[in-house]
Amino acid sequence: MKSRFLEFSFWRLMPPELNIYIDRLRGGRKEAIDLKHSSAFLAISDVTFRDLLLVQGEAYLASSHLIIQLKVQAEVFLKCIVCNESINKKIKICHFYHAEELTSKTKQIYNYSVPLRDAILLEIPCFAECHGNCLKRKELEKYMQSKEKNDSAYFPFTRLS
Ligand SMILES: [Zn+2]
Repeated sequence: MKSRFLEFSFWRLMPPELNIYIDRLRGGRKEAIDLKHSSAFLAISDVTFRDLLLVQGEAYLASSHLIIQLKVQAEVFLKCIVCNESINKKIKICHFYHAEELTSKTKQIYNYSVPLRDAILLEIPCFAECHGNCLKRKELEKYMQSKEKNDSAYFPFTRLS
């Protein structure tokens, strides 16, 4: 299976709607985040997202860190590993938390699309199957069993250790 990370394209990330302007948070101010954002920037291979991503939460400063707390909702379409039909899966992240240390080198604008994308990527199941048990699985069972027999019959390196 091709790695989803290979599709990472830096220039498709960083939509300006996901910018936090750090100066606006000084003096204890919080910025409320409430976005319905296009999922296009996620650009993960083998995975199709429903167009809109729901992002809600807030950003604030805590001593030397920028803190971003979010709830995220997305929906992905995956292929069933058995029959290849499209399945939709809802993804909910209830506690996205990102702390970015502020140093003298920190720019005034922080874009949180990379940690947000990483968090969503981790929630995508590697495999999906229709209703957790595809009806087509029965048709494939005979092939799967014969494969198992073959696998157990041949261990060419067992005598080397
Ligand atoms: Zn299926």
